[in-house]
Amino acid sequence: MKRYLWLLISTAMVAAGLLAAGTLRAQDGPIVTPADISTPTPVPPVLPTPTATPPRAAGSFPPSPRTMHLATDTPLTYTVRGGDTLFTVALETGIDLEDVPCAVGPRFTDDQPLVIGDVLSVPPANVLCHEVLPGDTLDTVAAAYRVAPEEIRALPWNGLIGVRSDGIDLRPGTHLRIPLPLPKNGMTQAPAADADFLAVMLNMPVDTSPFVVFADRNTARGKSGVASGPVPADWPYGSGHFAWPVYGWLSQSYRYDHRAVDVAAPAGTPITAADRGIVLRAGWNDQGYGRFVIIDHKIDYVTLYAHLDRILVQEGDIVGQGQVIGTVGSTGNSTGPHLHFEIRDFGRLINPLELLALQ
Ligand SMILES: [Zn+2]
Repeated sequence: MKRYLWLLISTAMVAAGLLAAGTLRAQDGPIVTPADISTPTPVPPVLPTPTATPPRAAGSFPPSPRTMHLATDTPLTYTVRGGDTLFTVALETGIDLEDVPCAVGPRFTDDQPLVIGDVLSVPPANVLCHEVLPGDTLDTVAAAYRVAPEEIRALPWNGLIGVRSDGIDLRPGTHLRIPLPLPKNGMTQAPAADADFLAVMLNMPVDTSPFVVFADRNTARGKSGVASGPVPADWPYGSGHFAWPVYGWLSQSYRYDHRAVDVAAPAGTPITAADRGIVLRAGWNDQGYGRFVIIDHKIDYVTLYAHLDRILVQEGDIVGQGQVIGTVGSTGNSTGPHLHFEIRDFGRLINPLELLALQ
């Protein structure tokens, strides 16, 4: 009985479909031939050739690569240099632009200049930065972040220890550090133990693993990507479409305390620019990035490539998408060869996978 019903329904649906098609054709006037439809030529995806990365035993992989510069318990400091702006401090220290005042000082407001030689204390990853608004009190701020007022008072940086409650005068434009409770579970937690994760990755065929990430190896061999096509050589603007900057294994995802992705790859693997842009920084960073490159794509996006072994571009260079900018290394705060890759949008660190997935 059931089967009969199903047959009846599907026959009815086919009939309805044919009827609808016939009606459409009759109403739409002239039949549209394929030549009239402008369809973009499909671009075949660039797939890595399986032979490019021979399978290896899990044990032969370098130690679990990981950077801790954003999750370290040791307070980091940054000394202001000539030419620094809030944005360059954010880039060098790996924090969001809007959190930089919480590195400068509790009385700092955005209209004050940075002072060369000032030592800033970089807020740890489990601290948020709140800009005091007119009407804010300690209680309203605490309630907004769902923390106890005492927890905000207890952070020495806020300078509220020992201050009587009626003596607290929050000045608009100044900043408070807000302690963030550590996440208990869910998306923000670290993935399963890295060694296990890598073992799973390494046993997957390279062209089927959803986690395998790659740059176009043909362009990664050192061919210059500058001025490809009709774009003038001095045109620094990116396309907004990001390509994977390296061929390797995703070894660390984006989390609240690691706002980047790590891609493990053998030392010396070429790293390519994710999009066209101008090299904003190329050199050494002692906040944990080691040898790093920052590219400004001039469309509000900035990308950062860290722990490089070699840097193959200079500040001021215009680079094309897919152009080699350096090689994978383990410089700075790193325990194995990998690329630490960040994307910023308007100074805010965002999940690179959200943009890379658009490929
Ligand atoms: Zn990293």
